[in-house]
Amino acid sequence: MRIAKGRAGKPSERRTDTFSGGVLADAVLPPADGIVVNTVVFEPGGRTYWHKHEVAQVLFVTTGEGRLQSADGTGGTLRPGDVAHIPAGEVHWHGAAPGSLLVHVAVSVGKTEWMHEVSDEEYAEAFADGPDAD
Ligand code: MN
Repeated sequence: MRIAKGRAGKPSERRTDTFSGGVLADAVLPPADGIVVNTVVFEPGGRTYWHKHEVAQVLFVTTGEGRLQSADGTGGTLRPGDVAHIPAGEVHWHGAAPGSLLVHVAVSVGKTEWMHEVSDEEYAEAFADGPDAD
């Protein structure tokens, strides 16, 4: 076993290659056994590229408002306290709402396969109906 103390002593990283907009990440647990844990801060409008996870990903939303969107057209609003499970192979993106930052802790298991950028049109469409009512 291992116990990582706080943010594992690594500096915050600005994510650019597979993210759009302002995105910062803190390593929470040094990667091992295919498990990566990061706290991710998205500025308003910030988001991942389209991607999928080899095994799974779990997102714990702690602050702000955002969205999880799947390529099959399903998706939902993310708010503090929400926990999302993304199964193996599901093509998706996650990110902040246009007018709010989003902070989530991401537990990623297995490799992440990155794809193309989420276009401004795809992003706008995901938020076109406004936040979920729940
Ligand atoms: Mn993901």
